[in-house]
Amino acid sequence: MIKYKELELIFSSFECDKNCPYCTAKITKWPIKDNCLDKLLDKLILLKKKNIRFKYFIISGNGEPSLNSYDDLKKVKDITNYVDIFDEKRLQSSGNIFYEDDKFKLLKDDFMIEITRCYFDSKKDMEILGYKRDYINTENFKKANIRLNYVMMKNKTFDEYLDEIKMFIDKYPNIKTVSLKTLNVNTLNDDTNNKYSKWILENGLTKRDSDKIINYMSSRAIFKCKDEKFFDRYEWIYRGIPITFYVKKLDYGYANMVYYGGELVDYHLHHILFEEM
Ligand code: SF4
Repeated sequence: MIKYKELELIFSSFECDKNCPYCTAKITKWPIKDNCLDKLLDKLILLKKKNIRFKYFIISGNGEPSLNSYDDLKKVKDITNYVDIFDEKRLQSSGNIFYEDDKFKLLKDDFMIEITRCYFDSKKDMEILGYKRDYINTENFKKANIRLNYVMMKNKTFDEYLDEIKMFIDKYPNIKTVSLKTLNVNTLNDDTNNKYSKWILENGLTKRDSDKIINYMSSRAIFKCKDEKFFDRYEWIYRGIPITFYVKKLDYGYANMVYYGGELVDYHLHHILFEEM
């Protein structure tokens, strides 16, 4: 059996209610495609036949995935339940899912909801990530199992990061895991000649800062380091909650597959060639 880190289903829509200054979708500008969800079942069955499993299945998008229709989300939920090759399932969201009662009810028990923040303080977070609704104070937010992606920026000290993370964990007991995030300047190619990549280089920590992050965290907490096949995963436990950091030593997405427009591809949009596996 081959175990991959994740299979990410990326919806092809650039609609989003946030305006993040580091938006990966806007950096890479993947071609818009029909989502071709009618092919999803066959592709997952093929993976199962190849004896491939994944740690995570992630519903993602080049925009906000929960803006897709209820029927499409249900299709994805039903098919991934049927072809059971995932340890855990997640939905990435701008926060919009917490305002869509039907879609939220549909997904909340099977999918961890993954949110991304730069700040504990909602006002500051809304300002920098360009959104208008403070989703973290909705009733639905409290009912969800949350994975918090915490984006690391240059304007804070490491002590400030840790203090904020502890505040999140203390205030929101439904946060089940925290992931420290460095930003990718371009996941498709090396071109950084766009305002989003430039913003990242100016304001964000990137994989070049990995050693600094690990050194700091190791001086503050006990990390477990698991050297897995494609990446090193560091983990610190605070009040029973894992705080993780994936060191992407290799190309972005190497341990991952993507379902996009009905095809299985990598982050460079190359088809996955099974005969080479
Ligand atoms: S939530 Fe995602 S798609 Fe929306 S602007 Fe931010 S990075 Fe881009």
